[in-house]
Amino acid sequence: MPMLDVRNLTVSYGRLEAVRNINFSVEAGRIVALVGSNGAGKSTTLKSIIGLVPPSAGQIFMDGTDISRMGAAARVHAGVALSPEGRRLFGRMSVRDNLLTGAHGVSSRATVRRSLDEVYALFPRVLERRAQLAGSLSGGEQQMVAIGRALMANPRLLMLDEPSLGIAPKVVAEIAGAIERINREKNMSIVLVEQNARLALRISHHAYALEHGEIIRSGKGAELLADPFVQKAYLGV
Ligand code: ATP
Repeated sequence: MPMLDVRNLTVSYGRLEAVRNINFSVEAGRIVALVGSNGAGKSTTLKSIIGLVPPSAGQIFMDGTDISRMGAAARVHAGVALSPEGRRLFGRMSVRDNLLTGAHGVSSRATVRRSLDEVYALFPRVLERRAQLAGSLSGGEQQMVAIGRALMANPRLLMLDEPSLGIAPKVVAEIAGAIERINREKNMSIVLVEQNARLALRISHHAYALEHGEIIRSGKGAELLADPFVQKAYLGV
């Protein structure tokens, strides 16, 4: 049984079907990429999985349980966390306090302390800047904090929306390395939404390409990298 199983999911904004009857799954311990152009429905898919937008049809199963009608807090409790597009940090709060907002539903102080140490170990720059206001950090550093905040919920499935957006190339490589480490060292399942298709396909085990709300390709990351349509549409080949 896959950890996450999305079945026949449709999400509409009024009359616009942003996601149309999509099916995909994430096996435990895997990195799964969702790639596609602007407006293809990638963010909408993640928002629907975490419970920020309601599905108009379909189901979302986490470990076999249908979570698609639960509230967002219950889904975090079920093991899903989202690092949203644009980071959405509290700029006038410290880095450390931003991280702690991610541990909202965690009652054990020892667990919170341990998660905080793990985030600092993963991102030493976040440790250095922990007392600074989040708004004073560079884009790349803020992205590290946003990923760290999602990790503070102790998820089993981590969803990352555009972690490379607007970030210097050198820092993008650093963040990609961190994503691979989180997957490898914590055996965490990851859904990675990226417009940087080359990066996403390189580090993912499996990938789906989304266009106009529909899945038009799926396969191993390496297979999609070699796919002529994918190369033309997303890789500028
Ligand atoms: P991007 O990378 O630009 O965010 P995306 O693949 O994540 O692209 P979505 O953000 O999911 O795409 O958007 C899918 C479609 O739904 C687009 O046509 C978008 O304009 C529309 N849409 C997204 N959010 C809303 C909203 N809150 N209300 C109405 N339409 C929306």
